[in-house]
Amino acid sequence: MSEQGHSAEGRGRDFDAVIVGAGFAGLYMLHKMKSAGLSACVFETGDGVGGTWYWNSYPGARCDVPSMEYSYQFDEDLQQEWEWTERYSSQGEILSYLEHVTDRFGLRPHIRFNTKVSAASFNEESGDWAIETDDGDQVSSQFLIMATGCLSARFTPEIEGMDSFEGALAHTGNWPKDGIDVAGKRVGVIGTGSSGIQVAPMLAREAGELFVFQRSPAFSVPSQNKPLDAAEQKAIKARYADFRAEAKRSRAGILYGLGEGSALDADAALLKEEFEKRWQAGGLGFTAAFHDLFDTVEANGTAADFVRDKISEIVKDPEVAEALTPHTLIGCKRLCVDAGYYDTFNRENVTLVDLRKGAIERFTGTGIIVGGSEVPLDVVVLATGFDALTGALLRVDIKGRGGVTLKEKWSEGPKTYLGHSISGFPNLFAITGPGSPSVLSNLVPSIEQDVDWVGRCIAHMREHGHQVIEATPDAEEEWVAHVSEVAHRSIYPLEDSWYVGSNVPGKPRVFLPYIGFPDFVERCNKVADQGYTGYGLS
Ligand code: NAP
Repeated sequence: MSEQGHSAEGRGRDFDAVIVGAGFAGLYMLHKMKSAGLSACVFETGDGVGGTWYWNSYPGARCDVPSMEYSYQFDEDLQQEWEWTERYSSQGEILSYLEHVTDRFGLRPHIRFNTKVSAASFNEESGDWAIETDDGDQVSSQFLIMATGCLSARFTPEIEGMDSFEGALAHTGNWPKDGIDVAGKRVGVIGTGSSGIQVAPMLAREAGELFVFQRSPAFSVPSQNKPLDAAEQKAIKARYADFRAEAKRSRAGILYGLGEGSALDADAALLKEEFEKRWQAGGLGFTAAFHDLFDTVEANGTAADFVRDKISEIVKDPEVAEALTPHTLIGCKRLCVDAGYYDTFNRENVTLVDLRKGAIERFTGTGIIVGGSEVPLDVVVLATGFDALTGALLRVDIKGRGGVTLKEKWSEGPKTYLGHSISGFPNLFAITGPGSPSVLSNLVPSIEQDVDWVGRCIAHMREHGHQVIEATPDAEEEWVAHVSEVAHRSIYPLEDSWYVGSNVPGKPRVFLPYIGFPDFVERCNKVADQGYTGYGLS
């Protein structure tokens, strides 16, 4: 490792900063540390960069935030030079972009691939972290920066007999790099969240027969993806800084164009007109048609009714249409964005297996038993999601002051200050951690916000001769209460979803992200401007 032993402080530690994960967050964090003249190393489990966009290479994987917004803005030349080809980028194009960024900024030599961080413990005497990898190596670092992603710890349900299945079995979040041959085969997809909804239409085109195992129907809106118009791209680039600034002022940090009216004041004709406009425009802006769709159950119901009607128009078999129709709030469980999902069920080779009529009992060597009979299968795709926001952090055995583990500290739910700092765990930062806007915002600007904040904080520490920074228990308690209070002003927490951890058995029910990107940025900046209020510096 080229930077080893070049600690700016000369205190005998291996690195100033160890960064875990080489996705959007880890790459920018590494660039930030290098630019500040610090010695830093990224540890990455995969054999390439990309994080989420490295692992989720299943057919149909695509971002549902527009390409011109789902990209870095820290370097003007980079954002001017890179040409996106589609309104919503495919997984492959985002991965190429991240590989380009890695080489453009000379990051690759500072990334240790195929290396998983298994444990980290804070040494109270030296003020450093001791970090262990699964190949038995141990390094020391002043800062430990967890850039481990919000949706990276895969969730695989325990289903009896899964190991005995003789066909091909893959999780969408760990798709084999050489793909899976489904041509003419009998294929099952378990799960109908964003991943299942993206992969199913693609598999249906190739498979002999596709069986979609659905436990809960999901709301989905069309992406209306298309090639990115060159003139549109040029116009945005001509005012990119203003375009980005405008996005940052919006609730999710994305330019959805939040409707000014209340859904409750609109008559039936206006509701239909507005929702139809959004449906035709495509994407997540659908739930921004009126400003209050997440404020009350009644307002939300207007949008949900519109999509329910769409499902019954698109799906020809009324029984299948009804089985695909959610009778829940819309968007409180993450809204899905698709390319022909509902229409897929009009194909003759596609069968919806409604698990509410009979649950999955077990796997056999040749299929899945549902409601007492076997669905014979050659391939099973697990689109069963993630242990979101906390999973990737808790799967590393992190020990803070007094040997207290993060698992113990978070036994009743995650507690952070500003989403990135944890009392009792000094000099540790989690990029887009629980209690930050993260998954309820455009993740790339959210990542840049956190990385910039951490970079500024470390520069402040260097300037003032501080070795250790730690959130105070009081500041953390207040932040946790504030995150919860803001969440409960909305209707988000009413629904079961991975936002509240209810998809993982035994996970404490806590609303995980912070609602409101602009407020978050303001609060974080204020803390820094006032000399890191809510922190102890020594
Ligand atoms: P998810 O939304 O958590 O969906 C998991 C699915 O698996 C659900 O339908 C769930 O059913 C089902 N499931 C879990 N255990 C099951 C079991 N034992 N039996 C039957 N069904 C089971 O996960 P995801 O689809 O991977 O998406 C996660 C998040 O990643 C998304 O919400 C989004 O934020 C992000 N993502 C984004 C994109 C994009 O940008 N377009 C694409 C993919 C993912 P229940 O609902 O009944 O629990």
